[in-house]
Formats: sequence, C-alpha cells, structure tokens
Amino acid sequence: MNEIRHNWHTQEIMNIYNLPLMDLMHKAATIHRENHDPNVVQVSTLVSIKTGGCPEDCGYCPQAARYHTGIKGNDLMTVSQVKDKALQAKASGSSRVCMGAAWRNVKDGPEFDQVLEMVRVINKQDMEVCCTLGMITENQAQRLAEAGLYAYNHNLDSSREYYQEVISTRGFDDRLKTIENVRKTNVTVCSGGIIGMGESIADRAGMLVALTTLNPQPESVPINALVAVTGTPMQEQQPVEIWDMVRMVATTRIVMPHTQVRLSAGRKQMSQEGQAMCFYAGANSIFSGDKLLTTDNPAVNDDAKMFKALGLTSQKPFLKNVHPPTVEAKDSQYQDLGEKPKWSRPGHSIDKNKAAQLKARI
Ligand code: SF4
Repeated sequence: MNEIRHNWHTQEIMNIYNLPLMDLMHKAATIHRENHDPNVVQVSTLVSIKTGGCPEDCGYCPQAARYHTGIKGNDLMTVSQVKDKALQAKASGSSRVCMGAAWRNVKDGPEFDQVLEMVRVINKQDMEVCCTLGMITENQAQRLAEAGLYAYNHNLDSSREYYQEVISTRGFDDRLKTIENVRKTNVTVCSGGIIGMGESIADRAGMLVALTTLNPQPESVPINALVAVTGTPMQEQQPVEIWDMVRMVATTRIVMPHTQVRLSAGRKQMSQEGQAMCFYAGANSIFSGDKLLTTDNPAVNDDAKMFKALGLTSQKPFLKNVHPPTVEAKDSQYQDLGEKPKWSRPGHSIDKNKAAQLKARI
C-alpha cells in the first residue's frame, strides 16, 4: 500500500499530469495494481429522485431552473418507485445506488424524511446507498448515517480559483463544510469534479490538491468530462479529448492511491478502447444505466459486453467498508432540528451564466 500524502502542490501534480503518456499510464497502473484488484470495477446506478428546477447557477448543469434546457423535471419520487429502481439496478449488476436530488441544500421536513426512508429501504436490499442532495448540516449527515447511508457525494467541481467561473450561488468553502459534516459520521465521502469547462491544467491540478488535502482523502473521486448541454452557459465548450481524460484519471490515481476513481459523466462520448485506457490507468468505478441524471450514458448491455471483452468483473457491495446498520425512524436518536444554516452567497457574478439566464427569458 502506498503512503498517502496530504501536502501535494499544484506544480508537482502538473508535472505528473504532463508526463509522456506512456510513462504516466505505467506509473498510474503500477500504483493501481499495488492497491486494488485491476480487474474489478465498482458499478453504481444513479437515480435522479428529484429532477430539475434547481435554484443554483452551476454553469454546466441542465437542471438549473434559470437555463431552460428543456429537461423534464419531476417532484420527489416515492419510496416504492426508488425501491423498484434499486432492485432493477441490483439485477443488472450494480452494487450501489446513488440518489440525486436537484436541491441547493437539504431542508428538514417531510421530503428529507422520505429520503431517509429510501436510504433505509435500499440499505436493506444489501446495496450500498449514496446520496447527493446538495449542502447538508452535521445533524442531517448524522440522520443519514443512522438510516444506513454508505456514501455522500458532494463534488468540489474544480479548483478553488476556477470555481468562481462556474458557480456564483454558493462558495467553495460551503462545499468543504458539507464534506466536513459528512466526515463527522461513518458515512464515506465521494467528491470529485469536472474537466472540459474551460479550466487550465493548473486548475485540474488545483482541484486534486484540494481533494488530496482532505484528511482522510475521499473514498471515491468521480472524474467527469463535461457534457455540454444546449441552453447552459457551457454549451459551446468543445468535447474533452480522451487523452485529457486518461491523464486526469492517471494523475488522480497516483495522488490518491487508495481512492476509488470513478469514470463518470462523458462515458457515452468515449470509445470502449478509450475507457479501457482509463481502467488501465486506475479508474475502478463506473455509473451504469442509460441516463446519468439527465444526460445519456452507455446502455447497460454495451457495458456488459465491454466488461466481458476486457475481463472485468463487478465489485461486490461492502468490500471496502462495513455494511452500515439501519436504525428505524421510530428508534431514531436524531430529531429534526429545524436548522436554518447560513450557507454563503459569494459576492462574485459570472457573465456567461447571466447571459444564459437572460437568453432563456427571451
Ligand atoms: S449541479 Fe446540482 S446544485 Fe448545481 S444546478 Fe445542478 S442540480 Fe443544482
């Protein structure tokens, strides 16, 4: 097992990122093999339990209400609808269900209680349960943990510096605060970012610096390639080249040897050969299912064929961490505190986000 460093510098990480590609892949693959079974890939299914209508202005996101991207929104799904999705996911080989809600932050009340019940129900199906619900308080993190949550996703998205070009409705420190709240529980942390938003290589390295500084480092780091959706401020961005994706995955593997590196959004635009290079360079998780929230993802059958061709197998649930027990709602030690957390509203504004919002009104 490799030593975990929390003191990486941007330039050091850029030097790794810019290595000749064969050297970079070899180095990453060597570290990957020392820490993980290179033929095992963890498969998650992402279920959008509440789609669209989000008040935030994340420049890459078709679910932000202000951009009018034409996606069909829905209210919070019922517990039984989500249970059905989880069972389908399990039958198709997923070990984890990740539930995503397009919320700025979690509010105590009936909708959060419904999400807690979803966590309980899926945990009892012997599947890992993850949630991505926006910002959460320490009490909300404790309540999710008590329900049996295995992981909480909250991405940093980019470097602290470039973040200000992407989002103006919440600050980078709010993101860190949510991760800190999750870390006070036994729930594992999933946090990564997106490349292809116009950021520099220094920003990509800067994001990895921020993630490696976390102690412990996230158990899971999703690396997303931007899927530029018409109507969003980033609609004109060019697709991420496969070489950039391989470099980012390999660099992430080198600086976070124990972490599960997730090949996330943008897989539909990648060839299977390109994905194979990413697996070789240290990616060991994917999202399965035809949709990744609102954008297209490879068909389950195509992934099954790729796994067969590459000799990959799906990771069993709870291989890396224990199966958390579920406490029933009636036995809960944590109550709705009715907290009104003061999440920040950063002072900056983003011209392209404002322009996209204005365009949507015309
Ligand atoms: S990324 Fe999440 S918080 Fe940002 S606009 Fe989309 S749904 Fe809302």
